[in-house]
Amino acid sequence: MDGGGGGDYLKLFVDETSFYNRIVLGSLMPAGTWESLPHPIQTWIRNYIGGTLVYFISGFLWCFFIYFLKRNVYVPKDEIPTKKAMLLQIYVAMKAMPWYSALPTVSEYMVENGWTRCISSISDVGWPAYLVYMSIYLVLVEFGIYWMHRELHDIKPLYKYLHATHHIYNKENTLSPFAGLAFHPLDGILQAVPHVIALFVVPTHFTTHVALLFLEGIWTANIHDCIHGKLWPVMGAGYHTIHHTTYRHNYGHYTIWMDWMFETLRDPMDDGSKKVM
Ligand SMILES: [Zn+2]
Ligand SMILES: [Zn+2]
Repeated sequence: MDGGGGGDYLKLFVDETSFYNRIVLGSLMPAGTWESLPHPIQTWIRNYIGGTLVYFISGFLWCFFIYFLKRNVYVPKDEIPTKKAMLLQIYVAMKAMPWYSALPTVSEYMVENGWTRCISSISDVGWPAYLVYMSIYLVLVEFGIYWMHRELHDIKPLYKYLHATHHIYNKENTLSPFAGLAFHPLDGILQAVPHVIALFVVPTHFTTHVALLFLEGIWTANIHDCIHGKLWPVMGAGYHTIHHTTYRHNYGHYTIWMDWMFETLRDPMDDGSKKVM
């Protein structure tokens, strides 16, 4: 970014976020109701609607598939969560959603004002550099989420007042895809903060960052369905179910890498063999 063109360059980000706002708000709300609102408020409403849609669409589709269409294939009948458990998870997640939506709203504000190292287009750095930068970004996120999550357990007040909300789901038949976003609002935000920190460290492609944030919503639904995917080195639901029952293992995010490195990994297959005995 050269000094003189800084303002012009930042305008590219504002154009992009305005475009997202127009698509989401424009298709769901009458024009008069949102067009005069300040840009950050529009962004917050768009993130709120987007987050809610991702949460319900991924949750419902996944539940429909594993509990109805493939009944008894992946989840034994007596381990299907009750409607009451799922409704409670939806209630907790929806109470937190306005707060979750504030995080990308703040991060977009920082991007639009040039505080971060974001780039607007992949061609600004070229594909090889883009791939390197996004790999570093993902490593930072893996590392950041692992330690954030681990500290939420190790620092007792943080556990008691924040993270315990998510850990009331500690049996197979209380965990469901809807538990994915059932956190204390501050807990959910803290665990997503590594995505924002990365923007200050790595020249991140902004659109990819937005996509990765929304991917979190889908991923977190997936790791709460209790189905062990057995896809090394992915840290799927098999691992995360263990996290919900031992509280001491598998703090990690997309991969088993960090738990393996920091010696908190517990493999679902080892647990499976114990169950048989
Ligand atoms: Zn936890
Ligand atoms: Zn969980």
